[in-house]
Amino acid sequence: MHIEVKRLNKTFGAGTPAVDDVSFGIARGRLIGLLGPSGGGKSTLLRMLAGLEYPDSGEIRINGQRVNELAPQQRGIGFVFQHYALFRHMNVYDNIAFGLTIKKEKKTVIAARVRELLALTGLSGLEKRYPNQLSGGQRQRVAFARALAPRPELLLLDEPFAAIDAKVRKELRTWLKQLISQLGITSIFVTHDQDEAVEVADEMLILQRGRLEQQGAPQTVYERPQTPFVASFIGHSRTLEAPQRLRGFDGAVTAGGSAIVRPEFVEAGLEGELSHPSASEPGTVRHLFFRGTHLEVEVELDGNRLLANRPLDRPPLQVGDCVQVLVHRLYVVEGETVRLLDNPLKHDPFPVHI
Ligand code: ADP
Repeated sequence: MHIEVKRLNKTFGAGTPAVDDVSFGIARGRLIGLLGPSGGGKSTLLRMLAGLEYPDSGEIRINGQRVNELAPQQRGIGFVFQHYALFRHMNVYDNIAFGLTIKKEKKTVIAARVRELLALTGLSGLEKRYPNQLSGGQRQRVAFARALAPRPELLLLDEPFAAIDAKVRKELRTWLKQLISQLGITSIFVTHDQDEAVEVADEMLILQRGRLEQQGAPQTVYERPQTPFVASFIGHSRTLEAPQRLRGFDGAVTAGGSAIVRPEFVEAGLEGELSHPSASEPGTVRHLFFRGTHLEVEVELDGNRLLANRPLDRPPLQVGDCVQVLVHRLYVVEGETVRLLDNPLKHDPFPVHI
């Protein structure tokens, strides 16, 4: 493994641990999305990797070498922060050259590397500009180029697009993903935005209350959440109040257990529209959310409120309408375990109700 973290711990003062017994490995060249709610421990973990914070216990290895005792500048790490943190009094060229200048590289070597990075980041021609003469997106590209200049082993990106507007942010993350896979540089990208993590990352690390909840490819994490937290955190999930009252799931959840359902697991429609009418039950439309490519319909039925996806080409629904609701599947949560359960009535070839 290129990056290895073993049983890392950090507690500030007498509080609860900010990072709690976290272990993981990252293969060379992978782009990792470090995802979790605010206060989950993402920044603390990143700062320990960078050498800006010292762990109470545990070990960090980069390329096989223990780096716990190394100063930040000795670890071969590049950073990109949320706020550009460019040197305002330096032009683009000098900003990108900075890491090489302090290493006292030859001027010709620096010039060649800066030229290469300007081309790579699409900034050629802007080298004489100062940060205040650039757009937010351009400044972040300069920050990438500056971080990449000394050829770091590991690139750390702390919410690099948080301060940039939505459209440019989307463009930048596609660009970043391409750039990182082209360069093959191991990178960790912190975000609290799951769409961003899902889109950009080869693998996600999900951190909550300092604990590593799950590591895996976005699709795996999405389809097979390992913990109740991940099941509820990923997707537009809803925890059901009374899952045993859902048609088809009456015996599914034991006392003390709960269930989580996502909109893509649920159909809500008018009589005759649903794929398995025998497994559906009536509900009332409470809200309609337009999601660009589809509608999300919030329905209330016998003690539960849940969300259902609805294609835009279906007849319109109104708040207050009575609809048929079919829950195709849900996650059953018992203690610390999560299992996916398909609606058993869906496979009934002989509908009992006519
Ligand atoms: P995230 O980046 O996921 O939002 P953080 O790593 O910033 O989470 O914080 C994790 C926990 O550690 C939080 O409870 C936070 O209040 C605490 N914490 C972080 N940095 C410090 C610090 N320097 N002093 C005291 N507590 C801190």
